[in-house]
Amino acid sequence: MNKNQFECIVIGAGHAGTEAALVASRMGCKTALVTLSRKTIGLMSCNPAVGGVGKGQLVKEIDILGGEMSLAADRTGIQFRQLNASKGQAVRSSRCQSDRRRYTQYMQQVVLHQGNLTVIEDMATEILVRNGKVSGVSIETGLDLQAPAVIIAAGTFLKGRMHVGKTITPGGRIGERASVRLTDNISDLGFPILFFKTGTPPRLDGKTIDFSKMEIQHSDNPPVPFSFKTPHIPKEQALLPCYITRTTEKTHDIIRQNFHQSPMYSGQIDATGVRYCPSIEDKIKKFAGKSAHQVFLEPEGLDTDEYYPNGISTGLPENVQEEMVYSIPGLEKVKFNCYGYSIEHAVIPPTELKASLETQKVDGLFLAGQINGTTGYEEAAAQGLMAGINASLKVKNQHSFILGRDEAYIGVLIDDLITKGTNEPYRMFTSRVEYRLVMREDNADKRLAHYSHKFGLMTEADFQKTAQKYKLIDKEVRRLKETRIYPGTKECREINEVLSQHNSSPLRNPTELNVILRRPEVRYHMIAGFDGKKKDHPNDVIDQVEYEIKYEGFIHRQLKDIERFRHIENIKIPEDIDYSKIPGVSIEIQQKLSHHTPANLGQANRISGVTPAAISILMIYLKKLSLERRQR
Ligand SMILES: Cc1cc2nc3c(=O)[nH]c(=O)nc-3n(C[C@H](O)[C@H](O)[C@H](O)COP(=O)(O)OP(=O)(O)OC[C@H]3O[C@@H](n4cnc5c(N)ncnc54)[C@H](O)[C@@H]3O)c2cc1C
Repeated sequence: MNKNQFECIVIGAGHAGTEAALVASRMGCKTALVTLSRKTIGLMSCNPAVGGVGKGQLVKEIDILGGEMSLAADRTGIQFRQLNASKGQAVRSSRCQSDRRRYTQYMQQVVLHQGNLTVIEDMATEILVRNGKVSGVSIETGLDLQAPAVIIAAGTFLKGRMHVGKTITPGGRIGERASVRLTDNISDLGFPILFFKTGTPPRLDGKTIDFSKMEIQHSDNPPVPFSFKTPHIPKEQALLPCYITRTTEKTHDIIRQNFHQSPMYSGQIDATGVRYCPSIEDKIKKFAGKSAHQVFLEPEGLDTDEYYPNGISTGLPENVQEEMVYSIPGLEKVKFNCYGYSIEHAVIPPTELKASLETQKVDGLFLAGQINGTTGYEEAAAQGLMAGINASLKVKNQHSFILGRDEAYIGVLIDDLITKGTNEPYRMFTSRVEYRLVMREDNADKRLAHYSHKFGLMTEADFQKTAQKYKLIDKEVRRLKETRIYPGTKECREINEVLSQHNSSPLRNPTELNVILRRPEVRYHMIAGFDGKKKDHPNDVIDQVEYEIKYEGFIHRQLKDIERFRHIENIKIPEDIDYSKIPGVSIEIQQKLSHHTPANLGQANRISGVTPAAISILMIYLKKLSLERRQR
């Protein structure tokens, strides 16, 4: 293979691109990672944090599937918290504050030392296509790189334009160039282009913040790691607290008086913004009745005094940003290290993609990350990982790897994107996930380890360890179900003593341990040892045993729902189906189906505008078609 010939080329080394390039090379593909600068490999464009509600689940899945984000977060985190800890396990999510500089350094080191991977510091300008198939990438210095698979992960750089008040600067991120020629080339290839908008707050000098006026928020103790490969996080690593303050009526007045100077409201930006992570201008406009909005001050790292004020992302002019920030308690005398800005950038509607993240128009061309209309590091990394795996499988002539909505948050993310598209930046939430009782952070290994193992991304030893863990959980659940406590025995007297200490009624009839554990006030450690056998299982085993027993009824119902879901999902649609030949389905729906090319009936059912009647007709047509083909 010549120097410029690769098996996979990845454009962009953000969160999507680094995962894509790492996994492709780990799966044995000779990979090139073309990116604007080595120094910005894995750079966090916005806030210094990983995880969060719905996002923590993505990170855990990335971890099991051999991704790097979880390890980077564990090595460089400076505060770790379990969100929704008081709520059910199903919506519990991990989050950490990261040392921004160290996070990037960690990712750079991993990428630069990865075998099979060549980093090329350049700008990709053109996707080379021959007879509908991708053949490589042209870079700005004039070289053509060849590969049968290309992944574009160019993030916010595609025709990026930054706005501060009336000032517009082309760029993909502060101080970095926009990717204009590549965007035009993507459009020339026939892809539609939309524009989305996001924004970032100013960065503030912590030496000038009066933290005494704020609420403090410490790390959990002990800090819980993201990765199954991290045995524990040293307590001393989770050093820095966050702080909480609030906007005031004065802040809101300042913003209201300056709406006309905000690029979003002056008409300067026409792109769609992030609904769930709005700018402070958006919040004041949309929640006019609210007298205060939370501002969460996140430390940027151990070697810097810089703080990221989460909650006041803005595109207002610099002088208005200052006036607004000075009106917030604790920030009256703060020094600005840099100002906030809004950015609009091109995205490709994700309905252009197959479930493998390969485009329908160009064979071998994959898209991952913010280019697909998502927002957030975790969403980007998840897509990058999947695109990298699928590009590698394509190069090896193997079937694509598609995760179902019933298997993983990643499956939901990609299915939502390709079947429904998105008309605003898409962010992951637990509420998007139908089967979240059985798709939790704590059982990502149970759901995904067998895939990772199959692709060579998990060692045999780790795979066996996971299998052992679940054997132990099953065994312990069985034991609790089979252990009956009889009134009048010593065990029963001891259990009743514990139950009374926790205001729980005493046992009067023979009762199994699992039935006792179902009581809300009863925890595993209170009852587990009463058959005389001491149980010292690890915490992750105990948590799952407890969960499986307490929520058994709900889990059972959800598993039934999954069975029903799988029935329709298992009805495959042949790739060469001609929808125009299906009688009784309107031309509009026929066109929708041929545009989306759903892989199965379930996906077809989720495409907006496809009616239940059309699905019934399609189901009958597919049965007939399959019969005809078998008879041929
Ligand atoms: C100002 C700003 C504010 C944001 N605010 C939020 C927020 O509030 N909430 C949130 O969830 N997310 C926010 N984000 C988005 C978040 O940063 C992205 O979702 C995430 O970084 C996307 O990852 P990515 O890998 O797709 O792209 P990026 O992280 O943008 O990485 C793109 C990579 O592609 C490279 N590249 C681009 N074009 C080329 C080319 N032609 N040739 C070679 N290399 C190229 C770049 O150098 C870069 O390495 C914000 C981003 C910005 C810039």
